[in-house]
Amino acid sequence: MRIDEIISQSEEPVFSFEFFPPASEEGERNLREAIEKLAPLEPSFVSITYGAGGSTRELTVELTRWIKHELGLEAMSHLTGYGATLDELRAVLGRISAAGIENVLALRGDPPRGQPDWTAENEAIHYASELIELIAQEYSFCVGAACYPEVHVEAIDLASEIRVLKAKAEAGAGFFITQLFFDNDVYFEFVDAARAAGVEQPIIPGLMPITSAEQIERMTALSGATMPKELVTQLELRANDPGTVLELGVAHAALQAADLLARGAPGIHFYTLNRSPSTRAILSALKVSRPWAR
Ligand SMILES: Cc1cc2nc3c(=O)[nH]c(=O)nc-3n(C[C@H](O)[C@H](O)[C@H](O)COP(=O)(O)OP(=O)(O)OC[C@H]3O[C@@H](n4cnc5c(N)ncnc54)[C@H](O)[C@@H]3O)c2cc1C
Repeated sequence: MRIDEIISQSEEPVFSFEFFPPASEEGERNLREAIEKLAPLEPSFVSITYGAGGSTRELTVELTRWIKHELGLEAMSHLTGYGATLDELRAVLGRISAAGIENVLALRGDPPRGQPDWTAENEAIHYASELIELIAQEYSFCVGAACYPEVHVEAIDLASEIRVLKAKAEAGAGFFITQLFFDNDVYFEFVDAARAAGVEQPIIPGLMPITSAEQIERMTALSGATMPKELVTQLELRANDPGTVLELGVAHAALQAADLLARGAPGIHFYTLNRSPSTRAILSALKVSRPWAR
């Protein structure tokens, strides 16, 4: 089923999980196990990222097919345009379509890690909006797109971020998923700015439960997400006790998600980093307490 239809037809918030295709066979076995463990929570959809390096790209389509047809969960393939020719993009889109997948998250992507000046020959896509347009014109997929409440690391300001959001909506994006963030007011201010600019598509907040100090340092550096001072203090207090960082991460993400849902967010997209226990605990608690129904 198309994700835009799932969102519009659902009376409850949509919950989704994001995984990345691992590079080793052992990693793939662990991933399949993690997804199977989350399946009983009946996510609205599960998404698989598209690797910047290239070696795991086939696995994106294969895992998405497995989730949809063998686990019976709705699935979405991510796709990046960076460095690809039109023929290459159409070949991947053809494989996603042949696998029976109805949803694609269309992204620009980034240069290969450690090569910020890398450029490709015959590159077809410079911005995600061009990929969204290509997909919307040539295929029947439901297309999703990324957005950045704290502004993309290369963007100048919120106004330019909102212009990009609007261009993606006009190109055919049916819904958006945000970059991770920790301050819910930033998300709601971003949604207000999007609505004021005439963007009506659902904007699903993306949350990443903190599992370790190193993980969150790496992810905030990559995404530009700022951490509230109080959260930094609590992490520092646990510098010598990694196990308690995980507990803090679960408790904090559960409270953040509950506040988002109570204030009207349409759902939560969990960046799982291929681990299931934190997400399982958070989503189970949300389903018990139902903050959106209060
Ligand atoms: C939910 C989510 C999922 C992701 N999944 C993946 C994944 O699977 N694989 C992966 O490699 N990466 C993934 N990413 C990371 C993403 O590829 C990077 O954040 C990338 O830097 C930007 O991608 P985008 O699609 O937002 O690009 P764009 O929307 O093209 O934006 C990129 C930059 O260009 C600017 N820009 C856009 N349009 C214009 C224009 N017309 N004129 C001037 N400037 C413009 C924007 O302001 C921004 O600074 C994901 C990110 C999110 C939030």
